Amino acid sequence: MTDPDPLGGELVTANRILAARGVVDGWGHVSVRKPGSPDRFLLARPLAPAVVTRDDLLELDVDTGESITGETTYLERHIHSGIYRARPDVAAVVHSHAPDLIPFTVTDTQLLPLLHASAFLGEGAPGFEVDGVPTGKLIDTPQVGDELAASLGAAPLVLMRWHGVSVVGASLRQAVYRAVYARENARIQLQSLALGPVTYQPTDEARDVAATVDKVTDRVWDLWVHELGDI
Ligand SMILES: [Zn+2]
Repeated sequence: MTDPDPLGGELVTANRILAARGVVDGWGHVSVRKPGSPDRFLLARPLAPAVVTRDDLLELDVDTGESITGETTYLERHIHSGIYRARPDVAAVVHSHAPDLIPFTVTDTQLLPLLHASAFLGEGAPGFEVDGVPTGKLIDTPQVGDELAASLGAAPLVLMRWHGVSVVGASLRQAVYRAVYARENARIQLQSLALGPVTYQPTDEARDVAATVDKVTDRVWDLWVHELGDI
């Protein structure tokens, strides 16, 4: 039987994958823009991603960041609406508090690519700043959502001091993939820095690798779905 709501089904899967891969725990969330309705996106009720079901998905307005039915969702829903307003190319957003990434929000050490799977980091990962000053404030109003989106610029992710990361993609699968591998790269980078000076993948090379890898990441998504089992 054809799934009457494939987008909702894939968003539930994305929630479960991010939880299973340790990118989100009790905190964190993922949204997807509605194809054909760029002013609307789907986000769950304020639940831990591991327990989100289709019945928990709400439709939100990009302009206001509010549920169109008035139901309550995450406090930091304005991460999603702010980025969707600023980036028409973005189809999905992941927000994570993954601990492996926190060191890169509180030091001058840049998060840079150390494996092909995370070559998308070659363009750099900006930090969330307001008036040039890093901030750790919650993204709980439309204005702060706009400030976060301004810091993100055209990048695939923005690091948030004392907080975490927000990752974007041209598809839900790409956003999930990037969120998982940004964390993997952070972990490998921390291990490498402990051993001594680190050689990062040059930006030009990383750009070429990322473009190639992007075309074949469905294999990884399919594995993660397989590992979830029945949901
Ligand atoms: Zn947060």
